Amino acid sequence: MDRLILWDVDGTLLSTDGIAAAAMRSAIRQVVGPTAPMERTAYAGKTDWQIIREHFPSLGETGVDTRLHEFRDAYLAGLEAQRAELQARSRVFAGARQVLEALQGRALMAPLTGNMAAIARIKLEVVGLAELLELEVGAYGDDHHARPELVPVAVERVLQRFGRRYSGLDVVIVGDTPYDIGCGKANGARTVAVATGPYRIEELGNHDPDAVLPDLTDTATAVAAIMGG
Ligand SMILES: [Mg+2]
Repeated sequence: MDRLILWDVDGTLLSTDGIAAAAMRSAIRQVVGPTAPMERTAYAGKTDWQIIREHFPSLGETGVDTRLHEFRDAYLAGLEAQRAELQARSRVFAGARQVLEALQGRALMAPLTGNMAAIARIKLEVVGLAELLELEVGAYGDDHHARPELVPVAVERVLQRFGRRYSGLDVVIVGDTPYDIGCGKANGARTVAVATGPYRIEELGNHDPDAVLPDLTDTATAVAAIMGG
C-alpha cells in the first residue's frame, strides 16, 4: 500500500440532490433560532464548520465553535429522519464505484471531506460506498474548520491505526474544487481534480492540480491519474 488516497465526498463521489444541504440549513436554524441573521455562502469545498461560521459572522467564531456539537447533533438527527429519502435521491457518480473497487488492495483509502464525520458516514452508507473506504482514519469537517488542516489529521489517524506514516506525494487528494487542490498542495500531496462538481475542468486546471479529469468513467485513466503514472 504505497499510497494514501484521501477522497472528497460531495461532488467527487456522490450527490445527495440537495437534501443534505437543506438538512444542514434546517439544523442550523434549530440551533440559532429563526431570527439570527444568516449570510449567504457557497458550500462546495468548504468544511461544515467553516460554512456555519460564514453563515453567522454575528455569532463570532467562538460562538459557532462552542456550539458545533449542537449543530452536528441537530443535522445528524434531521438526516437520519430523512434517511429513506436521502437513499432514494442520492446517487454515486458514474465510474466512482469502479475506481474505488479497482484501487482496493493497492492503496489505503479514506474520506477527507468537509462533512462532519457522522454526516459523511450516512452519505456514504446510503449509496453503498462506506465499505470501500476506511472511515475511521478519515478527516472531517468537525476535526477542523480549515480544510488544509485535515490532511495531517488523516495522516496521524492512519499512523495510529496502521503504523505507517504517509507523506509528500504518497498522499493523494481527490476532489472537485479548488479548495481540494489547495488543501493537497498546502501539504505537499499529489492532487487530482474531477470536474463532476460545480467547477469546470478549465477552472480546476487553472489551479494546477497534478491531474484533472472530466469524471471517473474511464477507470484505467482515473487509476493512473490517482496513482501517479
Ligand atoms: Mg466536494
